[in-house]
Amino acid sequence: MVILDTAKAGSVYTGCGELAAAGGMRGSSVFPLAWTPRMDLDLLRAHRHSAGHREELLASERCGCFQCLAIFAPQAIGEWIDAPPDAPDDDAAGTTGLCPRCGVDALIGSASGFPIEREFLLAMRERWFGGR
Ligand SMILES: [Zn+2]
Repeated sequence: MVILDTAKAGSVYTGCGELAAAGGMRGSSVFPLAWTPRMDLDLLRAHRHSAGHREELLASERCGCFQCLAIFAPQAIGEWIDAPPDAPDDDAAGTTGLCPRCGVDALIGSASGFPIEREFLLAMRERWFGGR
């Protein structure tokens, strides 16, 4: 468990290096979140906002997908999953939105309090999809 977490944290920092090279990131003054071990906790916390989040998504100004990095208005979401088993219509009763571009349940809304920006979505993708 500890070893796994360390390995994953390492992959996050590799991503930081790529971000720094691509965007000229310097310290935490450009990127809104400080890149510390706490950042990985933030990514863990953010992941909890990627499911069972229908109300939060619909209350968001913008949503992002950390699989394909699309950013869109919540009204663009047409498919929902995780409906109660007795619900007649998944899209009407589902609680987890699917990305309108790639169809993956990897959405997070701005109402979560996390920055819906490419850099943040990239960090999430690196953390949860291994950056590939
Ligand atoms: Zn997507």
